[in-house]
Formats: sequence, structure tokens, C-alpha cells
Amino acid sequence: MYIGRFAPSPTGPLHFGSLITAVASYCDAKANHGKWLVRIEDLDLPRTIKGAADTILRQLEAFGLVWDDKVVYQSQRHAYYEQALQQLQTQHLIYPCTCTRKEVADASDQRGVDGIIYPRTCLNHPLKSNAPQAWRVKTEQEVIQFKDLVQGHIQQNIGLEVGDFILKRADNLFSYQLAVVVDDALQGVTHIVRGADLLDSTPRQMYLQHALQYTVPHYAHIPIATNSKGEKLSKQTHAKPIEAQYANDLLYDALSFLQQHPPVALKIAPINEILHWATCYWHLNQVRHQQAICYQM
Ligand code: GLU
Repeated sequence: MYIGRFAPSPTGPLHFGSLITAVASYCDAKANHGKWLVRIEDLDLPRTIKGAADTILRQLEAFGLVWDDKVVYQSQRHAYYEQALQQLQTQHLIYPCTCTRKEVADASDQRGVDGIIYPRTCLNHPLKSNAPQAWRVKTEQEVIQFKDLVQGHIQQNIGLEVGDFILKRADNLFSYQLAVVVDDALQGVTHIVRGADLLDSTPRQMYLQHALQYTVPHYAHIPIATNSKGEKLSKQTHAKPIEAQYANDLLYDALSFLQQHPPVALKIAPINEILHWATCYWHLNQVRHQQAICYQM
């Protein structure tokens, strides 16, 4: 059984960039007679915009992207993340860390794929007393490799290129890396279709999947849409929210971006017909093997 998912962070309404991910994950699930789940990744409360989750769900409905099962909210699942953290602790795979961001930056200038590589200060020295504690996972100099269904062969030496990464922050927020791995496993997700901006995170997630003895899902990282300056379409780069009145054109453009070559006549068809065509003729292997593509509006 195929189970796919779309996991937006409610930091604002969906824009064309997020529509592409929604459409790609939906079509891949439906073309494989699978389920398509929606999970709201609202763990990072300070970044969550009030009302954005509902706006996103209404936008998905307006575009005919109807999900299976109940929508899951990460903010309600702390107990699961805590359980996974405890499992890793029992296996002696995590350690507390009282370093501030500044202390980490001052202690090392070794940069990896996602910022400074932690110099293991708290693994090798006593912790500061009365300081808030984060939890880090110990990484090995181990090459993690996999075949991405769009991007092909990917490999990363997790110890050398990332280092010991945080699973729970000093302010008690669980990290995206831990939460996403726990949720994908508990929801039985078999296929993850998402933007290539997350490709660097996948080896970290696989590292955790191995440690937690979870099944590793299949991954397909689709190109992200950028503006003419090469910046990812996002709220920060002023990408416009997608509007239901332009649903046909936007769905058509999303399918074109994904190299599915929709017939022009489809532009004036009702949206459920567009989606029906899209799932019947969906070919993941037609999606460009690129990490980013400029989208001219
Ligand atoms: N919540 C993440 C985002 O909106 C996506 C996470 C994922 O697909 O793994 O960028």
C-alpha cells in the first residue's frame, strides 16, 4: 500500500512553490492508488501564523486536493517525539548540550551543509550548570546513500558534513528532523515527494530512521520553483498566495512545471477533470532531475 503525504508548515498561505509540492505528492499517491495524507507542521510555534493552517486546508480544497484520513497537527504530538527521544537515550545515542549558538560559533569555524559542525564540547566536557539543555544525536563518519526517485544517487557523510545535530532545542521545541521522522513512521508513510531544498536533510532523517528501527520510505525530491533572481518562492521572497479563482491556470502551470505536458484544452476544464487527467497521465520520471527551476510568472 502506498501512503504519501503533504506536510506544509503554517507560516503563511500556500503559494505557487508549495502548490507544486502538493500537486506532485497528490498525483504520485493517486497514480499509485495510494492514500494522500496532510500533516500540518506547526511545531515551531513562534514561526506559526495564526489561521494559516486553516487557510492552507481551504486552499487545498479549492484546488480539488482532497486528503485521506484526518489532518494531523504536529503541535499535538509531543508525546510521540518524547518517546522517540527516550528510545535514543536508552541506546546512548543522544547527549545533552548547554552551548548557546554564539558559543558554538565561537568554538568552531567548520561549516557543514547546514551551518557549523558542532565541536562536541558538551560530549567531552562538563555541562554548564543551571543552563537550559538541548539534546543532540551523536553522528558517525558514515556515508548515507540512497537512490532518490527524481534526483538519482545521493550520498552524504553525516559525521563530516553535518555533525551532531539537535533533536530537542534548549527552549524545549522538538526539531523538524526528529518530528518528521517520527510522524512519517507512525503514519506509515511509504513515499515522500517534497521539494529538493530538503534533500540535504534526508540523510539525517535516514540516520534517525535506522537508529529508531523504522522502515525507510522512498524519497522523490522535486525541483523547487525560484524567481528570476534564483531565490526560492516563499513568503520571504513575496510569493503571492494561490487564489481559487485562478485554480485552473495554476494547476495547469504546476503540471507544466513538473513536465507532465498537460494538453492546452485542459486549461478551461473543471479542476476535478484537470486532476483526473493529471493522475491518469502522471509520470514521476518526466520531472526534471534538477534541484531548482526558475518559474516566470
Ligand atoms: N514542513 C516542511 C516545509 O513546509 C516540509 C517537510 C517535509 O516535507 O518533510 O518545508
